[in-house]
Amino acid sequence: MRCSNLVGDSPAVLLSERNYMILHRHQIPGRFIPIFCVHTEHGTCKAQEGGSSRGDRSVTHVFPLPDWQGNGACVRDLTEPGQLWEEHQLSLPACLSPLMMDEREEDDEEEAWLQLRPVEPLPSQCCGSGCSPCVFDLYDRDLARWEAARASKDRSLLRGKESQSCPSKLSPETFLAFRISAMEKLTEDTYRVQFVLPGNSQLGLWPGQHLILRGIVDGLEIQRAYTPISPANAEGYFEVLIKCYPTGLMSRCVESWRAGVTAFWRGPFGGFLYKPNQHGELLMLAAGTGLAPMVPILHSITDNADDETFVTLVGCFKTFEGIYLKPFLEEQARFWNIRTFFVLSQESSPEQLPWSYREKTRFGRLAQDLVEELVGSCRRKPFALVCGSAEFTKDMASCLLRAGLAEDSYFLF
Ligand SMILES: Cc1cc2nc3c(=O)[nH]c(=O)nc-3n(C[C@H](O)[C@H](O)[C@H](O)COP(=O)(O)OP(=O)(O)OC[C@H]3O[C@@H](n4cnc5c(N)ncnc54)[C@H](O)[C@@H]3O)c2cc1C
Repeated sequence: MRCSNLVGDSPAVLLSERNYMILHRHQIPGRFIPIFCVHTEHGTCKAQEGGSSRGDRSVTHVFPLPDWQGNGACVRDLTEPGQLWEEHQLSLPACLSPLMMDEREEDDEEEAWLQLRPVEPLPSQCCGSGCSPCVFDLYDRDLARWEAARASKDRSLLRGKESQSCPSKLSPETFLAFRISAMEKLTEDTYRVQFVLPGNSQLGLWPGQHLILRGIVDGLEIQRAYTPISPANAEGYFEVLIKCYPTGLMSRCVESWRAGVTAFWRGPFGGFLYKPNQHGELLMLAAGTGLAPMVPILHSITDNADDETFVTLVGCFKTFEGIYLKPFLEEQARFWNIRTFFVLSQESSPEQLPWSYREKTRFGRLAQDLVEELVGSCRRKPFALVCGSAEFTKDMASCLLRAGLAEDSYFLF
């Protein structure tokens, strides 16, 4: 048996009614190495395979997992048998926590190194946003570290320099844990989620930059990009707007969240670095959650009296009900330099809308004629920011070019 220490720090996963899998914490936060299974039965007091019991415990059978040793497997690789839980869901059954197993077997050094070998990601684990470093870059880095550490037989080298020196700072390479402080359902499939930052610290992103979120689904680690909507200088918290899709992998993780749950983020990413007064006028074209990067940029402009950038924001949604963050957008539209428009693809009647929205709402899809009208209505030639689905972004880029904007006069998030 590789690790025989059944203490409170070793989490357990319930495999079936009386079977637990005991896990050993991996040096990578949030990952675990399966060690052995425990069968429990109340009232009896036996342990096998080097196990022992103290007092009247209910452990009857402890057995190693030979198939899972020596192949570098982490819990994330396991889909069968049983349910796989994320770190916050793991718990050690009370009947096992004080139990110590005295007899230990010697580690097989080679086998131990193989268990620590990084596992190559699958394409579905990648967020697809083109971020750098991407999951495959991190895998290459971890593999190189592992090879160097193994050659010199020094496990401390696995951690890398940056995580040793500053483990609490947001970094593009290393995931950090953040606790959810509030979760609000905005529409039937979209949530606004607030995370705690330590003390009064700030996240450290430029407005409009994004983060990568890690999730575990059916034992597979996945990564997806999300853009904080909180002001870039928000202290002690940050917020994201997340839409969940019925067949989406990360969507499943997000729908299981609640206040108190911990999620893992790395970043920042994104090449648009907003500077006050850099562009005379911004034309923001946003579809659905593509509104997200526009929100901190708007905050940045309207919170700064010296920033005289004009903004024309066009939000494309299916329905009036589906418009995100209406109170925020209404408040922004009161500023002298901000105007908002909406394009609703699944509504057709202005009479259904509140009076305050009728003049600034169009129906159908945002297309060439309206883009030209919007560009023409700007006080000066705008710099355009576009965010939405890949199809929306591609369409808008060609509309903007045909409306007379140069290729360096727009940014596609
Ligand atoms: C730079 C960047 C920033 C982003 N910021 C945000 C953000 O702030 N908020 C946010 O909610 N999302 C954002 N996204 C999208 C997000 O990263 C995920 O792609 C999205 O949440 C779906 O992930 P998933 O794992 O649930 O779905 P996946 O498992 O990746 O997809 C499974 C299925 O879900 C459906 N689906 C997934 N995405 C879409 C889509 N866009 N439109 C229609 N159907 C879809 C499709 O049916 C798809 O086959 C951003 C993406 C990028 C690249």
